[in-house]
Amino acid sequence: MQEKIKLLKALISENKNIVITVHRGPDGDAMGSALGLYNVLVQLGHIVTVITPNDYACFLHWMPGNEKVIVFTQEEKRASEITEKADLIFLLDFGQIARLDTYANVVQNASAIKVMIDHHQEPDESVSDILFSDVSACSTAQIVFEIIEELGYKNLINKDVAECLYTGIMTDTGSFKYSSTTERTHHIIAELIGKGAENSKIHDLVYDNFSENRVKLLGYCLNHKLQIFKENKAAIISLNAEELKRFNFKTGDTEGIVNYALTIEDVIFAVFIAEKKGVVKLSLRSKGGFWVNEIAKKYFSGGGHKNAAGGVSDVSVEETIEKLKDIFKEYKTQLLNTKL
Ligand code: 5GP
Ligand code: MN
Repeated sequence: MQEKIKLLKALISENKNIVITVHRGPDGDAMGSALGLYNVLVQLGHIVTVITPNDYACFLHWMPGNEKVIVFTQEEKRASEITEKADLIFLLDFGQIARLDTYANVVQNASAIKVMIDHHQEPDESVSDILFSDVSACSTAQIVFEIIEELGYKNLINKDVAECLYTGIMTDTGSFKYSSTTERTHHIIAELIGKGAENSKIHDLVYDNFSENRVKLLGYCLNHKLQIFKENKAAIISLNAEELKRFNFKTGDTEGIVNYALTIEDVIFAVFIAEKKGVVKLSLRSKGGFWVNEIAKKYFSGGGHKNAAGGVSDVSVEETIEKLKDIFKEYKTQLLNTKL
């Protein structure tokens, strides 16, 4: 770690063109980490651009620096030119280049030095020149905080930086309740509040800021689309393209819906399926010692964490449900014996 910090410190000791990017469908941790780091690097005099592969939820748009973010799918030419010119590219909150979607080629072909900061299992070491990986960290935002601290730039953590990093840690720990939340996490959170992060305001902006359609879509999911497989301790919620259209779906509207299926007693494994832009996307969640990232990797070309993972299916929503029923049967013994 110390060697890498030294290397990174040398790299940012002179003014540079820097790009920060994150995984497609960026969540609170991806955007919080990216904008937290952005707000530190601009204070050091760098020219910094945050580029996301695609758009992201409106409830993340309040974060300081968001107005400068470039969405690759909306401004391909400008994003490509900036990426080609960059001296340094930070890759945050993902470990596989494919998670950049159509932006992946541009990043891969760029001559910049690449620094990856991530907390997912098995990051691909060939993607970056310097890799900061901590699979035990609750969030990438926590690692970013620690890197800033190790670099000796904690004095640059102002209110803007603090609020971004707070959002990353809060969203990836389910508001500090997942088992990845440690004493260290709470110490960092305390410091961020000390630096000006308004914790209560941030919770309101992220969790109590939904559109009417989103809340009605949630009601529809729970009333009409929740399937419970009691004998397997599993549950599925699924939405097809027509249903999303009916509720005027906007990016971010389905985030978190899977967690409602997991709030049911005796449900250990919950899956949310949605057909978005012709792609059948899955969100997998679990309780205790049941590892969903292994299922995401084996059956749905995906990955993630022990209790939260995702992937894609190459068959229809209906066929994906049938495939999942087979998976539930295959894992039945494990599901029934999972310790919380
Ligand atoms: P979500 O269900 O919220 O989209 O993602 C849950 C977790 O799984 C996140 O940590 C996310 O990074 C990871 N994940 C989601 N989709 C994919 C995917 O297609 N591939 C991989 N490797 N990880 C994914
Ligand atoms: Mn994360």
